[in-house]
Amino acid sequence: TPRVFSGIQPSGNLHLGNYLGALKRFVDWQAKDMETIYCMVDLHAITVWQDPKDLQKSTRELCAGFIAAGLDPEKSILINQSQVPEHAQLAWIFNCVARMGWMQRMTQWKDKAGKNQQNASLGLFAYPALMAADILVYHATHVPVGEDQKQHLELTRDIAIKFNHDYGVDFFPETQPVIEGAATRVMSLRDGSKKMSKSDASDASRINMTDDADTIAKKIRKAKTDPDGLPSEAKGLEERPEARNLVNIYAALMEHSVDQVLADVGGKQFSEFKPMLAELAVEKLAPISTEMSRLMDDHTEIDRILTRGSQRARAITAPILRQTYDIVGMVPPV
Ligand code: ATP
Ligand code: MG
Repeated sequence: TPRVFSGIQPSGNLHLGNYLGALKRFVDWQAKDMETIYCMVDLHAITVWQDPKDLQKSTRELCAGFIAAGLDPEKSILINQSQVPEHAQLAWIFNCVARMGWMQRMTQWKDKAGKNQQNASLGLFAYPALMAADILVYHATHVPVGEDQKQHLELTRDIAIKFNHDYGVDFFPETQPVIEGAATRVMSLRDGSKKMSKSDASDASRINMTDDADTIAKKIRKAKTDPDGLPSEAKGLEERPEARNLVNIYAALMEHSVDQVLADVGGKQFSEFKPMLAELAVEKLAPISTEMSRLMDDHTEIDRILTRGSQRARAITAPILRQTYDIVGMVPPV
């Protein structure tokens, strides 16, 4: 049976790229009446330093964001990763399946570890094995993500194939990455060659889901662009990453194609287009952030949702982990 899994790190600053590239897609999958499981991946978040109080707050805020964006905890299973221990347990098995060389090739590792790899955490290096476990501990078949996660999903497939091959079984399925929509890679507002990220030091580089209308308008007004006006066809944006990014964001928020948008706004200057984009972004994001802060007023409801989610999740993950241990040759308890 088809099963959808995806996750977001509770590392603060949930942003427009997360919304358009991931969260909004999660809601689309929920509407398809498939089994959907969405995770706040707190174990991933601590691969780089997180202040404990901030981590708790970010996890609850992310859960609030999931619900405010339209995920229904009755329809989808909402969990935080650390409450479902089988994720980390399967990750250990996958640490023993994956090869160092595979991990070394990951561009996220290279980007996040930076020049001083010796000083990066071992967890950051092993990140993709935990991600493979997140997915495969559910035998998930569809994983909606942004473009930056494509390489990790290929590695997930490699781990499944090697496990099946080494142990001579047909146990873990080959997972499909689902990378679709007009905004699979939303770029930084300050640098058209970098993706918008929670971890970018510059707050001006991203639109946070919790930004108020004035902040959103200011960030868009200051967004880097080139001096030219907007073209009337998508191919006029090819060599203009910053301009293309703003048009892609507009198209994704409108749920129109880039060509449809350019048919409307082609010929306008950015001085005219940016306020249109700001107004649209506020219109779409304000209801979500209002609902997020309402949900955050009293987090007992969120905590209950996550507890219930982990119980439902474990009904799936515990048997899969037990079978995995059996395949690997662990002696079970009697
Ligand atoms: P960090 O900088 O801490 O890695 P992040 O912004 O990359 O944070 P993640 O929690 O790593 O966010 O990713 C959550 C989901 O959001 C993933 O599916 C990822 O592909 C997607 N995503 C992240 N950034 C973007 C972006 N700029 N455009 C589209 N999708 C994105
Ligand atoms: Mg990321």
